[in-house]
Amino acid sequence: MLLRSLTRSSSNASTSLFFRLFPRSYFSRSSPATARSIRRLSDAGTGSELFLRRGLRLLPAAASGCLSGQFSRAVSTQTAPSYPGQDEAEKLGFEKAREEFISECKSKAVLFRHKKTGCEVMSVSNDDENKVFGVVFRTPPKDSTGIPHILEHSVLCGSRKYPLKEPFVELLKGSLYTFLNAFTYPDRTCYPVASTNTKDFYNLVDVYLDAVFFPKCVDDVHTFQQEGWHYELNHPSEDISYKGVVFNEMKGVYSQPDNILGRITQQALCPENTYGVDSGGDPKDIPKLTFDKFKEFHCQYYHPSNARIWFYGDDDPVQRLKVLSEYLDMFDASPARDSSKVEPQKLFSGPRRIVEKYPAGGDGDLKKKHMVCLNWLLSEKPLDLQTQLALGFLDHLMLGTPASPLRKILLESGLGEALVNSGVEDELLQPQFSVGLKGVSDDKVQKVEELIMSTLRKLADEGFDTDAVEASMNTIEFSMRENNTGSSPRGLSLMLQSIGKWIYDMDPFEPLKYEEPLKTLKARIAEEGSKAVFSPLIEKFILNNPHCVTIEMQPDPEKASQEEVEEKNILQKVKASMTDEELAELARATEELRLKQETPDSPEALKCVPSLNLSDIPKKPTYVPTEVGDVNGVKVLRHDLFTNDILYTEVVFDMGALRHELLPLVPLFCQSLLEMGTQDMSFVQLNQLIGRKTGGITVYPFTSSVWGSDVPCSKIIVRGKSMVGRAEDLFNLMNCVLQEVRFTDKQRFKQFISQSRARMENRLRGSGQGIAAARMDAMLNAAGWMSEQMNGLSYIEFLHTLEQKVDQDWEGISSSLEEIRTSLLSKNGCIVNMTADGKSLTSTEKFVGKFLDSLPEKPSGGQVTWDARVPLRNEAIVIPTQVNYVGKAGNIYSSGYKLDGSSYVISKHIGNTWLWDRVRVSGGAYGGFCDFDSHSGVFSFLSYRDPNLLKTLDIYDGTGDFLRGLDVDEDTLTKAVIGTIGDVDSYQLPDAKGYSSLLRHLLNVTDEERQIRRAEILSTSLKDFKEFAEAVDSVRDKGVAVAVASQEDIDAANKERSDFFEVKKAL
Ligand SMILES: [Zn+2]
Repeated sequence: MLLRSLTRSSSNASTSLFFRLFPRSYFSRSSPATARSIRRLSDAGTGSELFLRRGLRLLPAAASGCLSGQFSRAVSTQTAPSYPGQDEAEKLGFEKAREEFISECKSKAVLFRHKKTGCEVMSVSNDDENKVFGVVFRTPPKDSTGIPHILEHSVLCGSRKYPLKEPFVELLKGSLYTFLNAFTYPDRTCYPVASTNTKDFYNLVDVYLDAVFFPKCVDDVHTFQQEGWHYELNHPSEDISYKGVVFNEMKGVYSQPDNILGRITQQALCPENTYGVDSGGDPKDIPKLTFDKFKEFHCQYYHPSNARIWFYGDDDPVQRLKVLSEYLDMFDASPARDSSKVEPQKLFSGPRRIVEKYPAGGDGDLKKKHMVCLNWLLSEKPLDLQTQLALGFLDHLMLGTPASPLRKILLESGLGEALVNSGVEDELLQPQFSVGLKGVSDDKVQKVEELIMSTLRKLADEGFDTDAVEASMNTIEFSMRENNTGSSPRGLSLMLQSIGKWIYDMDPFEPLKYEEPLKTLKARIAEEGSKAVFSPLIEKFILNNPHCVTIEMQPDPEKASQEEVEEKNILQKVKASMTDEELAELARATEELRLKQETPDSPEALKCVPSLNLSDIPKKPTYVPTEVGDVNGVKVLRHDLFTNDILYTEVVFDMGALRHELLPLVPLFCQSLLEMGTQDMSFVQLNQLIGRKTGGITVYPFTSSVWGSDVPCSKIIVRGKSMVGRAEDLFNLMNCVLQEVRFTDKQRFKQFISQSRARMENRLRGSGQGIAAARMDAMLNAAGWMSEQMNGLSYIEFLHTLEQKVDQDWEGISSSLEEIRTSLLSKNGCIVNMTADGKSLTSTEKFVGKFLDSLPEKPSGGQVTWDARVPLRNEAIVIPTQVNYVGKAGNIYSSGYKLDGSSYVISKHIGNTWLWDRVRVSGGAYGGFCDFDSHSGVFSFLSYRDPNLLKTLDIYDGTGDFLRGLDVDEDTLTKAVIGTIGDVDSYQLPDAKGYSSLLRHLLNVTDEERQIRRAEILSTSLKDFKEFAEAVDSVRDKGVAVAVASQEDIDAANKERSDFFEVKKAL
């Protein structure tokens, strides 16, 4: 599930899912003042943001459909399109199987069957301009060689009509897509695209259809080698190594303990069916895959008879069938649909236990690094919607919020640091439930197991608190009404919900219709009481379920190096078995592949990918209605937008008067506000009250450089949402959180520390590029330094010290938390941001006034100047890993570069061409990208799951020469410009519009300035590219490098380039 996997925290259960690349907001900062803050925001995932997101999980598939789903478009310019009649569909080769109006998403949905092949098509029509298309194949693997995953990567590398190296990348460069990616599940492969521009949308659809049905990769072994695996030998005298994008991606996955546990769980629960192997590929097995098997798999499963196709949005439904019939008519029926059926796993007759090792760092107390997790396969047959809904509800009640009893009891026990893989997972054929802890002492493993069982027993016997049930109900209903899918299209979320049943030959309509089952469930709870509803579920599916697997994971400091040695041995044997001629041939083949990878597509080939013209692009940026006013002396920003009766608000406080030393305490301060309780209310009561009355409250720090200013912007943002009718409650609760919470609960604070440490360590292993980027930022500017104190390596170090200190000096820490509050909380410098329709904005104003009046009034002043930096030097942060994260950055303003909109176009182009080709395609890393923060002037290069280290730095250093040698024709340039506009104009739901507008206000980005940048983007010329080379050269000459890497690779690098890196240990 996309939404779930994108938003869920690491403590939730997760289906293994592989993306072709990560979501755009993850690395791109090209849209001024939004992406960076998104990064900050998503990192601030503590507190209620977390539980709200979990609330989304409740409905089969993430409730991101739409309940009384008015799509949040103020204006609908299109009348309802005419639907193809039976005759028209017949003529195009389809029969209408079923038709329904789905009130939950105000959509007409028609299921068509292509008569010749049996291909099924869901055609969903409504007035949503964010159109979505997806084709999904059932692709159950029989082994762990990663075929489905490698195929997912490969089909997008050129096709019959689009014979380029990578049409996918051409689309990334020059389309207005709002979503473009591909992903592999354990049993299916999805290819979704989305756009609000109809012409662009159909361009994307055609490229994707051609790619899946007629890919070049089945005739071209080079793609298989590049995306899957190959032996690399640069010279017969050197060692052979493995290379391949998926190979390295999976090495990264297999370096992360939580991921390893997730895989072992799935395989242990379902040892006898397709879930017993890894569709992503085990790095040990990937090299066993042959090209023939790979081709065979495509031929068998990528066939219309085995495809399910989804269309959604306000485009013409007849056009959809026309486009499809062109492709589908070329095929005859195949038996693929039968051979791809997923067989259920039979339930065990008794519990099982598995002990496994995972790679750990040599430092720290390894005895305390065990993980233990209990897992149940809930049923042999798929569950009906009613039961599934009730189980989702139960999941939220037990684990959804910090106040939920199972979560709370486990974390308060002190037996472990944080939850792992916990929750109900219902995306695969058979649902499962897991709960466990990490950071457990080796002698406490059994205690954890006992505590989990006794708590579940207790919950079955005693039931849940009425307030807790009400809070969960409100949270879930709110998220359904809000229908907030964040930056991903609503139609995509609906598609993934529908596919969750459809893929198993069940009803594709059912998952979209949840109003009835929800009403029934509510009625049952009201009549029989919650205990009568939930206790039998706990008894049946968990306590009395023999299909239970306990998994214990033990840290092994030797494992990472052992695996490297094993791999080396295998490769040495391979080399020893080869004759001189064969070695020469391999070196030649390596060179041939590299040459092919580095040869650009011809301009003629590039022309065949359809793209938009500059005339299709709006000349003006999208403006968010903003009225700046004043309430009781405080600045209030109002955005009059249709929000379906929901009020979104942010209250911003200035951190400028905070002492430096207190900065790293800020994240824990924010968590304490939401999770420590007041004089009159325990934190459980406070949490339930927030859940019952609002859509959630979050508190987090925000920092950024301000363009043209030496003083960074540093704020605390309190974010809340509620139904308009509950606005008074919302402001009262925000006031309560800010002013009444008491920092007295040492035990809870200790839990916060260990949870934060676990989360940061997970980040270090899983998103080392973020840690590297933060570190470089901290060397280069004050805002970066602040941010790193709260969310980087310095923060990890701080947490270690704090953990020691908390018992000796709790008084001191508690009064520091109070000092943070005193220094922040003031009417002076406070800003309020509100998003709702005009009438609601007016009607809620009195509550804002009351809220503001209760804030202390302090004279401003005592501003601390933030001018700290981490010392400028090349650093390597050692972690136990098989793949590295390599960064290099410099401030291009300080070398004289003047901001121009063309820089967005150019950095995007560098990322999509030079870095994609060298770091990813020929370097074998999963990702290579660059990022220009136009506020601070920091230009950074980053790689993700990278087998190389110094070699990647050399590629970065070559960027200036690449730009100087560049010869872009008009078409390429236009594409680059359009793609950049696509980033800048990224699709936003109303809450995001209001929020972006607030950030622009804070960072001094005016609408005039946005218009200037846009004009500069649109008029970017080749000359700009050449001139930018100088700026990039300054990163080469004066920049700083930070890598998160394995000890072995760092040692080798320091040997080769004498002591290039200062070495730091982190785990
Ligand atoms: Zn992948």
